Amino acid sequence: PIRVRFAPSPTGYLHVGGARTALFNYLFAKKTGGTFLLRIEDTDRTRFQEDSLKEIFESLKWLGIEWTEGPERGGEYGPYIQSERLDIYKKYAQTLWNSGQAYPCFCTPERLEKVRKEKELRKEMHGGYDRKCRDMSKEESQALIDAGTPYVLRLKAPLEGTISFVDGIRGEIETPVTMVDDTVLMKTDGYPTYHLASVVDDHLMEISHVLRGDEWIASTPRHILLYKAFGWQPPIIAHLPVILSPDGGKLSKRKGAASVMDYKRGGYLPEALVNFLSLLGWNPGDDREIMGIQEIIDAFDMGRISAKPSVFDEDKLTWVNSQYMESYDPAKLLADIEPMWAEKGLPVGEFSTEYKERVVSLFRTRCKKVTEFGENGAYFFADPEDFDAKQAAKQFNAAVKPALDMITEKAGAVAEWNRGGLEALFHGIADELEMSAGKINPAVRLAVTGVGGGPDLMDMLELMGRDTVVRRVKKASE
Ligand code: GLU
Repeated sequence: PIRVRFAPSPTGYLHVGGARTALFNYLFAKKTGGTFLLRIEDTDRTRFQEDSLKEIFESLKWLGIEWTEGPERGGEYGPYIQSERLDIYKKYAQTLWNSGQAYPCFCTPERLEKVRKEKELRKEMHGGYDRKCRDMSKEESQALIDAGTPYVLRLKAPLEGTISFVDGIRGEIETPVTMVDDTVLMKTDGYPTYHLASVVDDHLMEISHVLRGDEWIASTPRHILLYKAFGWQPPIIAHLPVILSPDGGKLSKRKGAASVMDYKRGGYLPEALVNFLSLLGWNPGDDREIMGIQEIIDAFDMGRISAKPSVFDEDKLTWVNSQYMESYDPAKLLADIEPMWAEKGLPVGEFSTEYKERVVSLFRTRCKKVTEFGENGAYFFADPEDFDAKQAAKQFNAAVKPALDMITEKAGAVAEWNRGGLEALFHGIADELEMSAGKINPAVRLAVTGVGGGPDLMDMLELMGRDTVVRRVKKASE
């Protein structure tokens, strides 16, 4: 059976790169009828951040990337939080130690740093450690342990040959063993390293495929050695392509590396972000770009994940978002937008839900992001306090004033205050004054909204209602 995992470390927020990794695992599980599990890799206590877990869960849920096994859900392979599995790692580390495949190392951080620097000076490519403690006698190491000397446990890596594995996306990758030093398995604080914990857990949790970011590609040879040492079959391991900013550089906080929740706050819809992320390194095999989650799942195929860097183009994300906005459920949008309006001090409570949903429907095709509702459209709830000066100079002229006055006079006689009734009113006035509607409409728009652009005028006037329109037009023509 196919079992995949997303294994974030709670060291901060969930950024878009992490979300893409989670999503691809999720898609693969959904497509194949497999299991997607969440595992929390919190063994690096120096980088642990308390709020991070909450933020990761919240981000995944907001995106709709639901795990079927893991924290909050449980499952047969738990616990799914590594800090609750310390005994397991200890036990497996001990087996390697017992069989002579691992050894204690007593070198201080200072010494290791010195060795690393010297190697760097000699431009030696391979890993940092010079294996000083590797051949220490049992008696000597036992004496140091008994004396309470802090130590780590290291894997005894082979000294010759190459390590090879077949990356599920990139094909065969060979690494000379000289690139890898003796990987630390257990740290002085009694916690396992990422390498040990990840290999042990992927094995015990029966993970069939590891799909992770390309920043882990250099770690995989270490993992392969570990699988060998344990006598286990490694899962299929694949590394997703790096995500670059449009200028070809790494993602920075400003350019894409922001957190998932920042995108929520920035007015993006989860469906749009998921759609956009799915195309970072994958495509459906044709030129479809706007795809709902089920469509993406149906089309998903590991074979079409690219090894080439993918570019995080925020303009494209905004475009994808605008596509979703156009047909998005107004009631759902309203839930996000209403607080924004309220925060601006608009009396949203005085308007019916139906009215507000119609405002959203009118406006959503004009907004690329949810936040734009909050920035515009105040005039649906309050009379404009002033008029855009440039527009006013252009629209409110002597010629148009009679038209505005006629609107306020005749509005009461309009039998049905809807598009048909309003069009008849405006045409009648235009005919009578021998003016074109093209002159009247922008002035009316400015009168009721205070600004130059906006949704369809007749729809808007209908929605605002007769009293509001008359009051505002009257005030504008004073
Ligand atoms: N805990 C690692 C991370 O934070 C997981 C890497 C992996 O998927 O093996 O990305």
